[in-house]
Amino acid sequence: MTMRNSLVWFRRDLRLDDHAALHHALLSRRRVVGVFVFDTDLLDGLPADDRRVQFIYDSVRELDDRLRTSGGYLIVRRGRAAQEIAALAAELDVESVYANHDYEPQAIARDRAVADALRRAGRSLQTFKDQVIFEKDEVLTLAGGPYAVFTPYKNAWLKRLAAQPEALAPFATLPHLAALAPRPAHHALPSLADLGFRPGATPIDAPGMHGAERTLAAFADRLARYDTERDFPARDATSRLSVHLRFGTLSIRALVRMLRARIEDGSGGPGAPVWLSELIWREFYMMILARNPRVTTQSFKLAFDAVRWDEGLPADALFAAWCEGRTGYPLVDAAMLQLNRTGFMHNRLRMVTASFLTKDLGIDWRRGERYFARRLNDYELSSNNGGWQWAASTGCDAQPWFRIFNPVTQSRRFDADGTFIRQYLPQLGGLEGAAIHAPWLAKAALLDKAGVVLGRDYPLPVVDHEQARAKTLARFRVLKQEQQEDS
Ligand code: FAD
Repeated sequence: MTMRNSLVWFRRDLRLDDHAALHHALLSRRRVVGVFVFDTDLLDGLPADDRRVQFIYDSVRELDDRLRTSGGYLIVRRGRAAQEIAALAAELDVESVYANHDYEPQAIARDRAVADALRRAGRSLQTFKDQVIFEKDEVLTLAGGPYAVFTPYKNAWLKRLAAQPEALAPFATLPHLAALAPRPAHHALPSLADLGFRPGATPIDAPGMHGAERTLAAFADRLARYDTERDFPARDATSRLSVHLRFGTLSIRALVRMLRARIEDGSGGPGAPVWLSELIWREFYMMILARNPRVTTQSFKLAFDAVRWDEGLPADALFAAWCEGRTGYPLVDAAMLQLNRTGFMHNRLRMVTASFLTKDLGIDWRRGERYFARRLNDYELSSNNGGWQWAASTGCDAQPWFRIFNPVTQSRRFDADGTFIRQYLPQLGGLEGAAIHAPWLAKAALLDKAGVVLGRDYPLPVVDHEQARAKTLARFRVLKQEQQEDS
């Protein structure tokens, strides 16, 4: 018996071109149908107006539109992926389901369950590298092991790319779209409401492939200045492409091809290689997660699990103040309000707020990580875990534990005139000069002039940074003891 169709299972790769799984399916000599499953294992528990679901939905709809233009279509289901994919494969008489690799532990377990279900029915799941240039086993030390420090990993990554430029070759799909299965007459996508969700008040800007193209085009002019501008949250200096990289509305190969061309012709200026490093950080953390899935619950450096974080009611109250942007440290609070209101937070502020939670408030990085996971539009398990463990000093190549960000100094350096703070804390807008960074140090006359009453319009600091710093150094001293006992 010959089976008639190939199924492409879209997940975090919501685009049509330069798509490994779609490319291979189109060359499979079968009719190709696409499917996206709103996976209840992932979505249950999310609020009905979760911005990310709407972004995914809008991106899926654009994908369906583009497939339709080429004569094909996308099936959208809601349910448990293993069941939905196996059932659809039977319905469509599919020989192989095509999908791209996913490196998160839960996704790996899901894919194993899908592959098993398909195998039992005489079908197969074929998966391909797509979301990274190099996977977990492709950039190794001379001894053949994984890197745990970024700079040598990056150098080896660049060397490998120079030796293997075909790693950037596009997986062409557009010339092969004639292989798409024709759309049935009454095919229609379910609405967002049919799927159990509703639009939120502040959707993510520019979803889908067209959104990715627009965001990238806007960044193209800023790329050359990225190296000097990227650390200042009030400036529109970074790419804002993280959500598109998260959901695969643009191809990482296309991005790196563009970057390489701009590095070669000089138009990328000093910003381009620095930006490329950020894309390599993304792959570094994906490699770390793929090779060490235990980091989702444990410190990368296991010895750091001996650190005792604060718990109980006082810690809960401090955690709530951090989440809600009421710590009394304006840069920290403005950053948390940015996250809560928009789902985005600037990278410098992710470092500052994560450091503040762990090193000023003494709260376990895992609590902060979970909060970010719920709120970030671009939430990526590997980068979020890597970033949190970096800030908490528990991770690979992390900030040393005795180096503790001073939130006021960070504020003076990276938001010198307070533009970012004023955007989210307008009640401090009238404060002049350095007072915006530490209102509790301001002279009474200055506060009066600005109409600010501390404790009424804006909180007093929930902790004293110097005392908190001393407490943290003591907290981490347990490591020194362990190291001494080891030696
Ligand atoms: P750009 O500065 O334009 O960077 C380009 C791309 O490079 C980003 O889109 C991202 O894909 C990648 N990148 C940049 N910095 C890093 C980094 N430090 N680690 C890994 N990849 C990076 N990034 C996420 O994509 N998802 C997360 O859940 C996430 N959580 C973080 C949590 C903490 C505590 C910290 C310190 C960082 C986290 N980051 C995360 C990394 C970084 O903050 C964001 O990628 C960046 O702010 C996204 O904005 P952008 O697209 O404008 O970045």
